[in-house]
Amino acid sequence: MSETTDTIFSKIIRREIPANIVYEDDLALAFTDVNPQAPVHILVIPKQPIVKLADAEPEDQALLGHLLLTAKHVAAEAGLKNGYRVVINTDVDGGQSVYHLHLHILGGRPMDWPPG
Ligand code: 5GP
Repeated sequence: MSETTDTIFSKIIRREIPANIVYEDDLALAFTDVNPQAPVHILVIPKQPIVKLADAEPEDQALLGHLLLTAKHVAAEAGLKNGYRVVINTDVDGGQSVYHLHLHILGGRPMDWPPG
Protein backbone atom coordinates (compact mmCIF):
# COMPACT_ATOMS: atom_id res chain seq x y z
CA MET A 1 0.00 0.00 0.00
CA SER A 2 1.58 3.27 -1.04
CA GLU A 3 1.43 6.01 1.54
CA THR A 4 -0.34 9.07 0.25
CA THR A 5 -2.53 11.61 1.90
CA ASP A 6 -4.91 11.63 -1.09
CA THR A 7 -6.94 8.50 -0.54
CA ILE A 8 -10.53 7.49 -1.07
CA PHE A 9 -11.30 9.37 2.16
CA SER A 10 -10.05 12.63 0.65
CA LYS A 11 -12.43 12.00 -2.23
CA ILE A 12 -15.25 11.59 0.29
CA ILE A 13 -14.26 14.87 1.97
CA ARG A 14 -14.33 16.59 -1.43
CA ARG A 15 -17.67 14.92 -2.28
CA GLU A 16 -16.11 13.28 -5.32
CA ILE A 17 -17.54 9.93 -4.25
CA PRO A 18 -20.69 9.40 -2.22
CA ALA A 19 -20.79 8.46 1.44
CA ASN A 20 -23.42 8.34 4.14
CA ILE A 21 -22.11 11.29 6.15
CA VAL A 22 -23.48 11.35 9.70
CA TYR A 23 -21.44 14.21 11.18
CA GLU A 24 -19.25 17.06 9.95
CA ASP A 25 -17.49 20.03 11.45
CA ASP A 26 -14.51 22.16 10.49
CA LEU A 27 -12.00 19.51 11.52
CA ALA A 28 -13.68 16.14 11.19
CA LEU A 29 -16.03 14.06 9.09
CA ALA A 30 -17.89 10.88 10.08
CA PHE A 31 -19.57 8.45 7.71
CA THR A 32 -20.77 4.86 7.76
CA ASP A 33 -18.31 2.17 6.70
CA VAL A 34 -19.07 0.69 3.28
CA ASN A 35 -18.29 -2.81 4.62
CA PRO A 36 -19.76 -2.79 8.14
CA GLN A 37 -18.36 -5.22 10.71
CA ALA A 38 -21.10 -4.52 13.26
CA PRO A 39 -24.68 -3.22 13.19
CA VAL A 40 -23.21 0.26 13.67
CA HIS A 41 -19.86 0.91 11.97
CA ILE A 42 -18.90 4.54 11.53
CA LEU A 43 -15.55 6.04 10.56
CA VAL A 44 -14.31 9.35 11.97
CA ILE A 45 -11.57 11.07 9.99
CA PRO A 46 -9.70 14.35 10.20
CA LYS A 47 -10.31 16.61 7.21
CA GLN A 48 -6.60 17.46 7.22
CA PRO A 49 -5.15 14.01 6.65
CA ILE A 50 -2.63 12.28 8.88
CA VAL A 51 -1.39 9.14 7.09
CA LYS A 52 -1.37 6.95 10.18
CA LEU A 53 -1.27 7.21 13.94
CA ALA A 54 2.45 6.44 13.91
CA ASP A 55 2.98 9.67 11.96
CA ALA A 56 1.07 11.88 14.40
CA GLU A 57 3.09 14.74 15.86
CA PRO A 58 2.77 16.74 19.07
CA GLU A 59 1.12 19.50 17.02
CA ASP A 60 -1.70 17.04 16.24
CA GLN A 61 -2.63 16.67 19.92
CA ALA A 62 -5.70 18.89 19.82
CA LEU A 63 -6.93 17.32 16.58
CA LEU A 64 -6.53 13.79 17.96
CA GLY A 65 -8.48 14.79 21.05
CA HIS A 66 -11.14 16.32 18.85
CA LEU A 67 -11.47 13.07 16.89
CA LEU A 68 -12.02 11.10 20.11
CA LEU A 69 -14.64 13.53 21.35
CA THR A 70 -16.25 13.40 17.90
CA ALA A 71 -16.37 9.61 18.20
CA LYS A 72 -18.11 9.97 21.57
CA HIS A 73 -20.64 12.38 20.07
CA VAL A 74 -21.29 10.26 16.98
CA ALA A 75 -21.68 7.09 19.06
CA ALA A 76 -24.23 8.82 21.29
CA GLU A 77 -26.11 10.11 18.25
CA ALA A 78 -26.13 6.54 16.87
CA GLY A 79 -27.82 5.40 20.07
CA LEU A 80 -25.03 3.16 21.33
CA LYS A 81 -26.22 3.29 24.94
CA ASN A 82 -24.63 -0.05 25.92
CA GLY A 83 -21.17 0.94 24.78
CA TYR A 84 -19.06 0.52 21.70
CA ARG A 85 -15.52 -0.03 20.56
CA VAL A 86 -13.20 2.57 19.03
CA VAL A 87 -10.36 1.16 16.91
CA ILE A 88 -7.46 2.74 15.06
CA ASN A 89 -5.73 0.24 12.78
CA THR A 90 -2.19 1.41 12.23
CA ASP A 91 0.10 0.40 9.38
CA VAL A 92 0.77 -3.10 8.12
CA ASP A 93 0.52 -5.17 11.29
CA GLY A 94 -2.41 -3.09 12.49
CA GLY A 95 -4.37 -4.05 9.39
CA GLN A 96 -4.68 -0.50 8.06
CA SER A 97 -5.95 -0.46 4.48
CA VAL A 98 -6.70 3.24 3.95
CA TYR A 99 -3.73 5.47 4.73
CA HIS A 100 -5.71 8.42 6.07
CA LEU A 101 -5.97 8.11 9.85
CA HIS A 102 -9.45 7.08 10.94
CA LEU A 103 -11.28 5.90 14.02
CA HIS A 104 -13.66 2.99 13.65
CA ILE A 105 -16.73 3.17 15.91
CA LEU A 106 -18.19 -0.32 16.21
CA GLY A 107 -21.35 -1.04 18.13
CA GLY A 108 -24.76 -2.59 18.29
CA ARG A 109 -23.49 -5.98 19.43
CA PRO A 110 -21.09 -7.25 22.11
CA MET A 111 -17.47 -7.18 20.94
CA ASP A 112 -15.05 -10.08 21.34
CA TRP A 113 -11.60 -9.83 22.83
CA PRO A 114 -8.87 -10.35 21.71
CA PRO A 115 -9.44 -9.04 18.21
CA GLY A 116 -8.21 -11.14 15.30
P1 5GP B 1 -8.75 0.20 7.82
O1 5GP B 1 -8.69 -1.21 7.30
O2 5GP B 1 -7.78 1.09 7.07
O3 5GP B 1 -8.62 0.32 9.29
O4 5GP B 1 -10.21 0.70 7.53
C1 5GP B 1 -10.62 1.21 6.32
C2 5GP B 1 -12.11 1.12 6.28
O5 5GP B 1 -12.58 1.93 5.24
C3 5GP B 1 -12.63 -0.29 6.02
O6 5GP B 1 -13.45 -0.69 7.11
C4 5GP B 1 -13.40 -0.16 4.72
O7 5GP B 1 -14.56 -0.94 4.70
C5 5GP B 1 -13.69 1.33 4.67
N1 5GP B 1 -13.81 1.85 3.33
C6 5GP B 1 -12.94 1.65 2.29
N2 5GP B 1 -13.35 2.32 1.21
C7 5GP B 1 -14.49 2.96 1.56
C8 5GP B 1 -15.38 3.81 0.85
O8 5GP B 1 -15.21 4.13 -0.33
N3 5GP B 1 -16.46 4.29 1.53
C9 5GP B 1 -16.68 3.97 2.83
N4 5GP B 1 -17.77 4.50 3.42
N5 5GP B 1 -15.86 3.18 3.54
C10 5GP B 1 -14.77 2.67 2.90
